[in-house]
Amino acid sequence: MMNDTRIKILLIEDNPGDARLIEHMLAQAQGLAFESTWVDNLADGIAHLQTKPTDVLLLDLGLPESTGLATLQRVLARAPTVPTLVVLSGLSDENIAVQAVQSGAQDYLVKGQVDTALLVRSIRYAMERSQAKQALRQAYDELEQRVVERTAELANTIQALHAEIMERKQAEDQILYMAHYDALTGLPNRELLQDRISQAIAYAHRNRTQVAVLFIDLDHFKHINDSLGHKIGDRLLQMVAVRLRECVREGDSVARPGGDEYVLCLPLLTGVGDAAVVAQKALDALGQAFLVEGNELHASASIGISLYPNDGTDVETLMRAADTAMNHAKERGRGNYQFFTQVLNKAAQQRLVLEKKLRQAFANDEFVLHYQPQVNMANGAIFSSEALLRWRQPGKAPISGGSFISIAEETGLILSIGEWVLREACRQLKQWQDAGHPDLRIAVNLSPRQFYQPHFIDMIAAILDETGLAATGLDLEITEGLLLQRSDDIVDMLNQLSGMGIQLSVDDFGTGYSSLAYLQRFPVHALKIDQSFVRNIGRDRNATALVSAIIAMANSLHMKVLAEGVETSLQIAFLRSRGCSSGQGFYYSEAVPAEAFIRLLNK
Ligand code: C2E
Ligand code: MG
Ligand code: MG
Repeated sequence: MMNDTRIKILLIEDNPGDARLIEHMLAQAQGLAFESTWVDNLADGIAHLQTKPTDVLLLDLGLPESTGLATLQRVLARAPTVPTLVVLSGLSDENIAVQAVQSGAQDYLVKGQVDTALLVRSIRYAMERSQAKQALRQAYDELEQRVVERTAELANTIQALHAEIMERKQAEDQILYMAHYDALTGLPNRELLQDRISQAIAYAHRNRTQVAVLFIDLDHFKHINDSLGHKIGDRLLQMVAVRLRECVREGDSVARPGGDEYVLCLPLLTGVGDAAVVAQKALDALGQAFLVEGNELHASASIGISLYPNDGTDVETLMRAADTAMNHAKERGRGNYQFFTQVLNKAAQQRLVLEKKLRQAFANDEFVLHYQPQVNMANGAIFSSEALLRWRQPGKAPISGGSFISIAEETGLILSIGEWVLREACRQLKQWQDAGHPDLRIAVNLSPRQFYQPHFIDMIAAILDETGLAATGLDLEITEGLLLQRSDDIVDMLNQLSGMGIQLSVDDFGTGYSSLAYLQRFPVHALKIDQSFVRNIGRDRNATALVSAIIAMANSLHMKVLAEGVETSLQIAFLRSRGCSSGQGFYYSEAVPAEAFIRLLNK
């Protein structure tokens, strides 16, 4: 059977006369092979379109059920796929013609003006336009398909390339790692160490800080290697690496340039004392026995320390100086550390002695608190006192906190001393309150280290409980440095303390470079203007302006403000004129023993 290629025409026309006329014209058309169906209402017409293939629809717009453009819209809504659509209308209205074509009709014929030739031409053109449109759509679809396929292909190209690049990068990383790290211990090797030291030097140069290079040589390693074998020797070297890593902080480097030598590079942010502390830590760590495959090994070390910029300003000089110092340590009997500079050795020696004495002092009860009044400068009334630590050695004048607190902090001794200070200060205040000064308060200095001690808050709560002191009588002095550490834990703890009713003051305010806006994020109640600014009131323009600014801003943020180190009536007059009425300093009294303080109170 051959394909039926005749054009299938559907005529929707309610007027039988018009319908017959159209059919007649179609029959007369030469060379138009068609098959036509006539229906006289819209419903049948739509049903036909939905079920029978139709090439051309001739639609009369004026039907009993619907007239005008609405007829066209109804057909398109129900049978949107009619390929060719010619509308017939009784009206010769150009507006309607344009709208019909915009809605999807291919042509618009006016009844009575149509003859056979016009009808056939219209059908032919309409079909051609419709076919061209279809061909275009098909071509577009094909193109789109090809774009999709090509994109997928490209994505596959790219993926393979990516994989290759990653592989190469891994290989390069591996090579780089082998070039910079020691295979046995995983520590940086000599090359990377030199790099790290020169970076540390560059940083220290910019920030005017120091760098320490510690050269560590194991004592008698050769003997262990020779007597127990290389395998055990290697294992020991690995264990030493692990212990050394535990002695340093983030930002410090531990390297193994070769053999039984290790090097530490420490950027010194606070001072030379840090280098001695780390060296001692390393000696202690390596002094503990190592258990290697059933053998208990003892491997002490000798350490040499050089410092940038003191002992050298380039990597090589510093390494050489540290090596020389290490040889001194060996000469002095091994198991010790030596600075390259002799003066520092003396200082380190003194520190060591001082540290030992401090430990004994604590055990022997040689610490005592002195109290310095905090005064309302308007009327001279004492409202609080700051507890300040003193070390009273038998037969000697008391030594003030400034000279030993930093060592107590470095060695961790500050934790037990700090707890004692808190307990003693609370006990003393409670006694004074009970003796007729119920509103008196006390200020206690805290070291940042105490905040990292376990159960710190519980400890304070227990002391308050034990001594019977109300939390509202206690004022804790913290440093700007503590706040600048930006730790959530610290904020938490400060909130807890504040929640208990304890007041928090920032000590030495103005020296730590924190802004007042920054301070607002913490539950801080008061600022203590550092004495270096107060001292220069009226002497130095900047210091004077700074004092005014701190007072003004503290007042506007509803923080209390207290001036430290007040020594003259001129300072008092200025401070009061700016709105600061609390002060502390030699003008009123230095820190005095408890017996003397009660006399001040009663005066
Ligand atoms: P600080 O908390 O800023 O204490 C004020 C220091 O200034 C005290 O020195 C005090 O004697 C001194 N001072 C007071 N008024 C004047 C004055 O008018 N002129 C001058 N030139 N100095 C004045 P001190 O007692 O030597 O304490 C030094 C630092 O040691 C304290 O500074 C504080 O940071 C720390 N400190 C003292 N006791 C303790 C403590 O129990 N625990 C902790 N963690 N630190 C403490
Ligand atoms: Mg203080
Ligand atoms: Mg202070």
